[in-house]
Amino acid sequence: MCADKKHEKPNIFKSVFTNKCARCRRGSIFTNKNPYNLKNCMKMPDNCPECGQPVEVEVGFYYGTGYVSYALSVAVCVASLIAWWLFIGFSIYDNSIYWWLGFNGLLLLTLQPLLMRWSRTIWMAFFVRYDEDWQQGPPEGTGRVNTTFKGAI
Ligand SMILES: [Zn+2]
Repeated sequence: MCADKKHEKPNIFKSVFTNKCARCRRGSIFTNKNPYNLKNCMKMPDNCPECGQPVEVEVGFYYGTGYVSYALSVAVCVASLIAWWLFIGFSIYDNSIYWWLGFNGLLLLTLQPLLMRWSRTIWMAFFVRYDEDWQQGPPEGTGRVNTTFKGAI
C-alpha cells in the first residue's frame, strides 16, 4: 500500500501551500522550513531534493514573481477589508477606515515571508508541469541535454 501512496498524484493546492516542487510535488523548494527565519527564508537548493528538477529554471526566473506577489497582496487586502466590514464595520462618523488601514499594513508586513514564498511556488507551478516519471536529475555538465545534437557529434 505504501508503494501506491508514493505514486499517488499530490494535490496541487496542497503542494503549492506547502511550497513543494512543481515537477514532483514532493520535494521542498526552500532549504529552511520556517518562513519566519528571516535570514534564510528565501534560500533555495539548486535542484529539487526529490526529483532533481532545477529550482531556478533559468537565470532571473523569479523576477516575475512580483506579479504573483502583487495579486496575493491585493487578495489579502480585499479579504481583510471584507472581514473588517463584516465584524467591525465602517462608518463616516469615526476613524474605523484608518484603523483598518493600519491593521492591514501590519497584516501584510506579517504575512510577507509567506507571500514571497507562495509567489515563487505559484510562479514555478505556472511554468513547470507535474510529471511523476520525470527522474532525470540535474543535466550533465553545464549545457542542456539535447539528444539530437549529441547524436550528431
Ligand atoms: Zn521535485
